[in-house]
Amino acid sequence: MGRESHFDVAIIGGGPAGLAAAQVLGRQRRRVVLIDNHQGRNGAASSVHMLLGREGMTPEGLILAARRELAKFPGVSLLSAEATTVLVEDAKIVVSTTGANVSADHLILATGVVDQLPSIPGIGTAYGKSLFHCPLCHGFEVGDQPVVVIGGSEQAAFMAAYVQDRISRDVQLCSNGEPSFSPLTRRRLGHNDIRVIEDKVVAVEAQPGGLMLRMADATAVTYRAGFVSAKYSQRSPLVHELGCTLRDDGRVRVDHFQRSSVPNVFAVGDMAKATGGNMSFVATAIASGVTAAAFLDEDIFAGRWASQSTT
Ligand SMILES: Cc1cc2nc3c(=O)[nH]c(=O)nc-3n(C[C@H](O)[C@H](O)[C@H](O)COP(=O)(O)OP(=O)(O)OC[C@H]3O[C@@H](n4cnc5c(N)ncnc54)[C@H](O)[C@@H]3O)c2cc1C
Repeated sequence: MGRESHFDVAIIGGGPAGLAAAQVLGRQRRRVVLIDNHQGRNGAASSVHMLLGREGMTPEGLILAARRELAKFPGVSLLSAEATTVLVEDAKIVVSTTGANVSADHLILATGVVDQLPSIPGIGTAYGKSLFHCPLCHGFEVGDQPVVVIGGSEQAAFMAAYVQDRISRDVQLCSNGEPSFSPLTRRRLGHNDIRVIEDKVVAVEAQPGGLMLRMADATAVTYRAGFVSAKYSQRSPLVHELGCTLRDDGRVRVDHFQRSSVPNVFAVGDMAKATGGNMSFVATAIASGVTAAAFLDEDIFAGRWASQSTT
Protein backbone atom coordinates (compact mmCIF):
# COMPACT_ATOMS: atom_id res chain seq x y z
CA MET A 1 0.00 0.00 0.00
CA GLY A 2 1.19 3.55 -0.73
CA ARG A 3 1.67 6.25 1.90
CA GLU A 4 -1.77 7.78 1.55
CA SER A 5 -3.99 6.90 4.49
CA HIS A 6 -7.26 8.77 3.80
CA PHE A 7 -9.52 7.33 1.10
CA ASP A 8 -12.88 8.00 -0.49
CA VAL A 9 -13.93 4.45 0.37
CA ALA A 10 -12.56 1.73 2.64
CA ILE A 11 -13.66 -1.80 1.76
CA ILE A 12 -13.21 -4.46 4.43
CA GLY A 13 -13.22 -7.94 2.89
CA GLY A 14 -11.60 -8.94 -0.39
CA GLY A 15 -13.78 -11.85 -1.49
CA PRO A 16 -15.87 -11.63 -4.68
CA ALA A 17 -18.16 -8.93 -3.22
CA GLY A 18 -15.42 -6.60 -1.98
CA LEU A 19 -13.27 -7.10 -5.08
CA ALA A 20 -16.20 -6.29 -7.37
CA ALA A 21 -16.89 -3.09 -5.43
CA ALA A 22 -13.19 -2.13 -5.62
CA GLN A 23 -13.15 -2.65 -9.38
CA VAL A 24 -16.15 -0.39 -9.98
CA LEU A 25 -14.77 2.36 -7.75
CA GLY A 26 -11.25 2.01 -9.18
CA ARG A 27 -12.62 2.47 -12.68
CA GLN A 28 -14.30 5.69 -11.54
CA ARG A 29 -10.90 6.84 -10.27
CA ARG A 30 -11.97 6.87 -6.63
CA ARG A 31 -9.32 6.44 -3.94
CA VAL A 32 -10.07 3.07 -2.40
CA VAL A 33 -8.40 0.81 0.14
CA LEU A 34 -9.33 -2.89 0.11
CA ILE A 35 -8.44 -4.59 3.39
CA ASP A 36 -8.44 -8.38 3.38
CA ASN A 37 -7.07 -11.23 5.47
CA HIS A 38 -7.60 -14.01 2.90
CA GLN A 39 -10.15 -16.30 4.56
CA GLY A 40 -12.81 -16.57 1.85
CA ARG A 41 -15.80 -18.77 2.59
CA ASN A 42 -15.16 -21.24 -0.24
CA GLY A 43 -11.39 -21.32 0.25
CA ALA A 44 -11.45 -25.07 0.97
CA ALA A 45 -13.28 -25.92 -2.26
CA SER A 46 -11.32 -27.02 -5.32
CA SER A 47 -13.63 -25.33 -7.83
CA VAL A 48 -16.19 -22.58 -8.30
CA HIS A 49 -19.38 -23.31 -10.22
CA MET A 50 -22.35 -21.31 -11.46
CA LEU A 51 -20.16 -18.38 -12.40
CA LEU A 52 -20.60 -17.41 -16.02
CA GLY A 53 -17.36 -17.52 -18.01
CA ARG A 54 -15.40 -18.97 -15.05
CA GLU A 55 -17.02 -22.40 -14.60
CA GLY A 56 -14.74 -24.76 -12.66
CA MET A 57 -12.02 -22.24 -11.84
CA THR A 58 -10.34 -22.58 -8.43
CA PRO A 59 -11.50 -20.11 -5.75
CA GLU A 60 -7.91 -18.98 -5.28
CA GLY A 61 -7.47 -18.48 -9.04
CA LEU A 62 -10.59 -16.33 -9.18
CA ILE A 63 -9.43 -14.10 -6.33
CA LEU A 64 -5.90 -13.77 -7.76
CA ALA A 65 -7.25 -12.88 -11.22
CA ALA A 66 -9.47 -10.18 -9.72
CA ARG A 67 -6.62 -8.78 -7.61
CA ARG A 68 -4.39 -8.66 -10.71
CA GLU A 69 -7.09 -6.74 -12.58
CA LEU A 70 -7.19 -4.16 -9.79
CA ALA A 71 -3.54 -3.31 -10.44
CA LYS A 72 -4.77 -1.37 -13.52
CA PHE A 73 -6.50 1.17 -11.31
CA PRO A 74 -4.03 3.49 -9.56
CA GLY A 75 -6.63 4.67 -7.04
CA VAL A 76 -7.00 1.19 -5.52
CA SER A 77 -4.66 0.16 -2.68
CA LEU A 78 -4.61 -3.43 -1.42
CA LEU A 79 -3.89 -3.95 2.27
CA SER A 80 -3.34 -7.54 3.45
CA ALA A 81 -4.36 -7.25 7.09
CA GLU A 82 -7.23 -7.87 9.48
CA ALA A 83 -9.44 -4.90 10.25
CA THR A 84 -9.75 -4.94 14.02
CA THR A 85 -11.84 -1.87 14.86
CA VAL A 86 -13.94 0.65 12.98
CA LEU A 87 -14.95 3.99 14.47
CA VAL A 88 -17.30 6.52 12.92
CA GLU A 89 -15.96 9.95 13.97
CA ASP A 90 -17.70 13.09 12.67
CA ALA A 91 -18.73 11.36 9.44
CA LYS A 92 -15.17 10.06 9.01
CA ILE A 93 -14.59 6.32 9.18
CA VAL A 94 -11.42 5.25 10.95
CA VAL A 95 -10.27 1.65 10.47
CA SER A 96 -7.56 0.08 12.62
CA THR A 97 -5.93 -2.99 11.17
CA THR A 98 -3.13 -5.40 12.00
CA GLY A 99 -1.19 -3.49 9.31
CA ALA A 100 -1.62 0.24 8.64
CA ASN A 101 -4.49 2.31 10.04
CA VAL A 102 -6.63 4.14 7.49
CA SER A 103 -9.57 6.52 7.29
CA ALA A 104 -12.25 7.03 4.66
CA ASP A 105 -15.43 8.95 3.94
CA HIS A 106 -17.41 5.77 3.27
CA LEU A 107 -17.22 2.13 4.27
CA ILE A 108 -18.22 -1.02 2.41
CA LEU A 109 -18.32 -4.11 4.60
CA ALA A 110 -17.76 -7.33 2.64
CA THR A 111 -16.59 -9.59 5.44
CA GLY A 112 -18.65 -12.69 4.57
CA VAL A 113 -19.98 -15.46 6.77
CA VAL A 114 -18.64 -18.63 8.39
CA ASP A 115 -20.42 -21.96 8.04
CA GLN A 116 -21.17 -23.77 11.28
CA LEU A 117 -20.98 -27.49 10.67
CA PRO A 118 -22.41 -30.18 12.97
CA SER A 119 -19.83 -31.07 15.58
CA ILE A 120 -18.59 -34.40 14.22
CA PRO A 121 -14.85 -35.18 14.37
CA GLY A 122 -13.20 -34.78 10.97
CA ILE A 123 -16.12 -33.03 9.29
CA GLY A 124 -14.06 -29.90 8.60
CA THR A 125 -11.46 -31.87 6.66
CA ALA A 126 -14.09 -33.06 4.16
CA TYR A 127 -15.91 -29.72 3.85
CA GLY A 128 -15.27 -28.17 0.45
CA LYS A 129 -13.68 -31.37 -0.90
CA SER A 130 -16.42 -34.00 -0.85
CA LEU A 131 -18.87 -32.46 1.63
CA PHE A 132 -20.79 -29.32 0.69
CA HIS A 133 -23.71 -27.22 1.88
CA CYS A 134 -25.10 -26.44 -1.57
CA PRO A 135 -26.24 -29.05 -4.12
CA LEU A 136 -26.67 -26.29 -6.72
CA CYS A 137 -22.96 -25.42 -6.58
CA HIS A 138 -21.50 -28.92 -6.20
CA GLY A 139 -24.20 -31.43 -7.17
CA PHE A 140 -23.67 -31.77 -10.91
CA GLU A 141 -20.17 -33.23 -10.55
CA VAL A 142 -21.46 -36.16 -8.44
CA GLY A 143 -24.59 -36.88 -10.47
CA ASP A 144 -25.97 -40.46 -10.28
CA GLN A 145 -23.40 -41.49 -7.67
CA PRO A 146 -23.91 -42.49 -4.00
CA VAL A 147 -24.58 -39.37 -1.97
CA VAL A 148 -25.43 -38.74 1.68
CA VAL A 149 -27.20 -35.79 3.28
CA ILE A 150 -26.24 -35.28 6.92
CA GLY A 151 -28.79 -33.74 9.29
CA GLY A 152 -31.95 -34.47 11.23
CA SER A 153 -33.91 -31.28 10.55
CA GLU A 154 -36.79 -30.59 8.19
CA GLN A 155 -34.30 -28.65 6.07
CA ALA A 156 -32.06 -31.72 5.80
CA ALA A 157 -35.02 -33.89 4.74
CA PHE A 158 -35.95 -31.31 2.10
CA MET A 159 -32.35 -31.27 0.88
CA ALA A 160 -32.25 -35.08 0.62
CA ALA A 161 -35.45 -35.10 -1.43
CA TYR A 162 -34.10 -32.33 -3.64
CA VAL A 163 -30.81 -34.17 -4.16
CA GLN A 164 -32.74 -37.32 -5.08
CA ASP A 165 -34.86 -35.39 -7.57
CA ARG A 166 -32.03 -33.42 -9.23
CA ILE A 167 -28.68 -35.11 -8.52
CA SER A 168 -28.79 -38.80 -7.69
CA ARG A 169 -31.45 -41.43 -6.99
CA ASP A 170 -28.79 -43.07 -4.80
CA VAL A 171 -29.21 -40.80 -1.76
CA GLN A 172 -29.33 -41.60 1.94
CA LEU A 173 -30.27 -39.28 4.78
CA CYS A 174 -28.09 -39.62 7.86
CA SER A 175 -29.88 -37.87 10.72
CA ASN A 176 -26.94 -38.33 13.11
CA GLY A 177 -29.18 -39.28 16.03
CA GLU A 178 -32.89 -38.81 16.66
CA PRO A 179 -34.32 -36.69 13.80
CA SER A 180 -36.93 -33.98 14.31
CA PHE A 181 -38.92 -34.78 11.16
CA SER A 182 -42.67 -34.21 11.26
CA PRO A 183 -44.92 -37.23 10.60
CA LEU A 184 -45.67 -35.80 7.13
CA THR A 185 -41.95 -35.50 6.32
CA ARG A 186 -41.37 -39.09 7.46
CA ARG A 187 -44.18 -40.27 5.19
CA ARG A 188 -42.76 -38.29 2.26
CA LEU A 189 -39.27 -39.71 2.81
CA GLY A 190 -40.77 -43.21 2.88
CA HIS A 191 -42.86 -42.51 -0.21
CA ASN A 192 -39.69 -41.49 -2.08
CA ASP A 193 -37.68 -44.47 -0.78
CA ILE A 194 -35.12 -42.25 0.91
CA ARG A 195 -33.40 -44.37 3.54
CA VAL A 196 -32.90 -42.63 6.88
CA ILE A 197 -29.92 -43.74 9.00
CA GLU A 198 -30.50 -42.65 12.59
CA ASP A 199 -27.20 -43.87 14.08
CA LYS A 200 -24.79 -41.29 15.43
CA VAL A 201 -21.85 -40.44 13.18
CA VAL A 202 -18.65 -40.63 15.24
CA ALA A 203 -16.29 -39.43 12.50
CA VAL A 204 -16.21 -38.13 8.96
CA GLU A 205 -13.16 -38.97 6.87
CA ALA A 206 -12.27 -37.29 3.59
CA GLN A 207 -11.07 -39.91 1.12
CA PRO A 208 -9.72 -39.66 -2.42
CA GLY A 209 -12.87 -39.17 -4.51
CA GLY A 210 -15.35 -39.26 -1.64
CA LEU A 211 -15.99 -39.43 2.08
CA MET A 212 -16.53 -42.10 4.72
CA LEU A 213 -18.91 -41.90 7.67
CA ARG A 214 -17.90 -43.93 10.72
CA MET A 215 -21.01 -44.81 12.70
CA ALA A 216 -21.50 -45.45 16.43
CA ASP A 217 -22.22 -49.14 15.77
CA ALA A 218 -18.67 -49.49 14.32
CA THR A 219 -19.87 -49.73 10.71
CA ALA A 220 -18.54 -47.39 8.02
CA VAL A 221 -20.21 -46.22 4.81
CA THR A 222 -18.51 -44.53 1.86
CA TYR A 223 -20.14 -42.06 -0.49
CA ARG A 224 -19.00 -40.11 -3.51
CA ALA A 225 -20.13 -36.90 -1.79
CA GLY A 226 -22.14 -35.50 1.08
CA PHE A 227 -24.29 -32.46 1.68
CA VAL A 228 -25.02 -30.85 5.00
CA SER A 229 -27.51 -28.18 5.86
CA ALA A 230 -25.10 -25.83 7.63
CA LYS A 231 -25.94 -22.76 9.64
CA TYR A 232 -23.76 -19.68 9.32
CA SER A 233 -22.73 -16.63 11.31
CA GLN A 234 -21.02 -13.33 10.55
CA ARG A 235 -17.28 -13.84 10.01
CA SER A 236 -16.36 -10.50 11.55
CA PRO A 237 -17.57 -8.93 14.80
CA LEU A 238 -17.15 -5.46 13.24
CA VAL A 239 -20.70 -5.55 12.00
CA HIS A 240 -21.98 -5.88 15.58
CA GLU A 241 -19.60 -3.22 16.88
CA LEU A 242 -20.84 -0.77 14.25
CA GLY A 243 -24.43 -1.46 15.32
CA CYS A 244 -25.75 -2.43 11.87
CA THR A 245 -29.33 -3.69 12.05
CA LEU A 246 -29.48 -7.43 11.40
CA ARG A 247 -32.19 -9.62 9.90
CA ASP A 248 -33.62 -12.59 11.81
CA ASP A 249 -31.15 -14.85 9.97
CA GLY A 250 -28.17 -12.81 11.22
CA ARG A 251 -27.37 -11.06 7.96
CA VAL A 252 -27.12 -7.29 7.75
CA ARG A 253 -30.39 -5.69 6.70
CA VAL A 254 -29.69 -3.53 3.65
CA ASP A 255 -31.80 -1.64 1.12
CA HIS A 256 -31.71 -2.23 -2.62
CA PHE A 257 -28.49 -0.21 -2.90
CA GLN A 258 -26.86 -2.26 -0.12
CA ARG A 259 -27.02 0.60 2.42
CA SER A 260 -27.01 -0.59 6.03
CA SER A 261 -28.79 1.16 8.90
CA VAL A 262 -25.53 3.01 9.77
CA PRO A 263 -24.96 6.17 7.70
CA ASN A 264 -22.15 5.87 5.10
CA VAL A 265 -21.83 2.14 5.73
CA PHE A 266 -22.76 -0.38 3.03
CA ALA A 267 -22.77 -4.18 3.41
CA VAL A 268 -22.38 -6.55 0.46
CA GLY A 269 -22.00 -10.24 -0.34
CA ASP A 270 -23.06 -13.17 1.84
CA MET A 271 -23.11 -11.06 5.01
CA ALA A 272 -26.05 -8.91 3.87
CA LYS A 273 -29.40 -9.30 2.20
CA ALA A 274 -31.96 -6.84 0.92
CA THR A 275 -34.75 -9.31 0.30
CA GLY A 276 -35.93 -12.60 1.72
CA GLY A 277 -34.38 -15.90 0.72
CA ASN A 278 -31.15 -17.57 1.51
CA MET A 279 -29.35 -17.68 -1.84
CA SER A 280 -25.66 -16.82 -1.52
CA PHE A 281 -23.42 -17.40 -4.48
CA VAL A 282 -20.26 -15.90 -5.92
CA ALA A 283 -22.32 -14.29 -8.68
CA THR A 284 -24.80 -12.71 -6.25
CA ALA A 285 -21.91 -11.46 -4.09
CA ILE A 286 -20.33 -9.83 -7.14
CA ALA A 287 -23.67 -8.30 -8.13
CA SER A 288 -24.18 -6.76 -4.70
CA GLY A 289 -20.65 -5.32 -4.68
CA VAL A 290 -21.21 -3.75 -8.10
CA THR A 291 -24.59 -2.37 -7.01
CA ALA A 292 -23.22 -0.75 -3.84
CA ALA A 293 -20.17 0.73 -5.56
CA ALA A 294 -22.05 2.10 -8.57
CA PHE A 295 -24.67 3.69 -6.32
CA LEU A 296 -22.06 5.11 -3.95
CA ASP A 297 -19.95 6.56 -6.76
CA GLU A 298 -22.93 8.38 -8.23
CA ASP A 299 -24.14 9.46 -4.79
CA ILE A 300 -20.77 11.05 -3.96
CA PHE A 301 -20.91 13.04 -7.19
CA ALA A 302 -24.61 13.91 -6.79
CA GLY A 303 -23.87 15.39 -3.35
CA ARG A 304 -21.11 17.53 -4.79
CA TRP A 305 -23.28 18.63 -7.73
CA ALA A 306 -26.20 19.56 -5.47
CA SER A 307 -24.06 21.70 -3.18
CA GLN A 308 -22.14 23.45 -5.97
CA SER A 309 -22.28 27.22 -5.79
CA THR A 310 -22.15 29.08 -9.12
CA THR A 311 -21.43 32.53 -7.70
C1 LIG B 1 -17.44 -25.13 0.48
C2 LIG B 1 -18.12 -24.02 -0.29
C3 LIG B 1 -18.19 -24.08 -1.66
C4 LIG B 1 -18.84 -23.07 -2.38
N1 LIG B 1 -18.94 -23.19 -3.74
C5 LIG B 1 -19.56 -22.23 -4.46
C6 LIG B 1 -19.67 -22.34 -5.88
O1 LIG B 1 -19.20 -23.31 -6.49
N2 LIG B 1 -20.33 -21.35 -6.55
C7 LIG B 1 -20.88 -20.27 -5.90
O2 LIG B 1 -21.46 -19.41 -6.55
N3 LIG B 1 -20.76 -20.14 -4.55
C8 LIG B 1 -20.11 -21.08 -3.82
N4 LIG B 1 -20.00 -20.95 -2.46
C9 LIG B 1 -20.50 -19.71 -1.82
C10 LIG B 1 -19.44 -18.61 -2.00
O3 LIG B 1 -18.23 -19.03 -1.41
C11 LIG B 1 -19.89 -17.30 -1.36
O4 LIG B 1 -21.19 -16.97 -1.81
C12 LIG B 1 -18.93 -16.16 -1.70
O5 LIG B 1 -17.61 -16.50 -1.33
C13 LIG B 1 -19.36 -14.88 -1.00
O6 LIG B 1 -18.44 -13.87 -1.27
P1 LIG B 1 -18.19 -12.70 -0.19
O7 LIG B 1 -17.25 -11.76 -0.86
O8 LIG B 1 -19.47 -12.19 0.34
O9 LIG B 1 -17.49 -13.42 1.06
P2 LIG B 1 -16.13 -14.25 1.17
O10 LIG B 1 -15.80 -14.92 -0.10
O11 LIG B 1 -16.28 -15.10 2.39
O12 LIG B 1 -15.02 -13.13 1.43
C14 LIG B 1 -14.99 -12.40 2.64
C15 LIG B 1 -13.57 -11.87 2.78
O13 LIG B 1 -13.54 -10.94 3.88
C16 LIG B 1 -12.36 -11.17 4.61
N5 LIG B 1 -12.54 -10.64 5.97
C17 LIG B 1 -13.49 -10.96 6.87
N6 LIG B 1 -13.33 -10.23 8.00
C18 LIG B 1 -12.24 -9.44 7.79
C19 LIG B 1 -11.56 -8.48 8.59
N7 LIG B 1 -11.97 -8.15 9.82
N8 LIG B 1 -10.46 -7.87 8.08
C20 LIG B 1 -10.02 -8.17 6.83
N9 LIG B 1 -10.64 -9.07 6.02
C21 LIG B 1 -11.73 -9.70 6.51
C22 LIG B 1 -12.15 -12.67 4.57
O14 LIG B 1 -10.82 -13.01 4.85
C23 LIG B 1 -12.56 -12.97 3.11
O15 LIG B 1 -11.45 -12.87 2.24
C24 LIG B 1 -19.38 -21.95 -1.71
C25 LIG B 1 -19.29 -21.87 -0.31
C26 LIG B 1 -18.68 -22.89 0.40
C27 LIG B 1 -18.61 -22.82 1.90
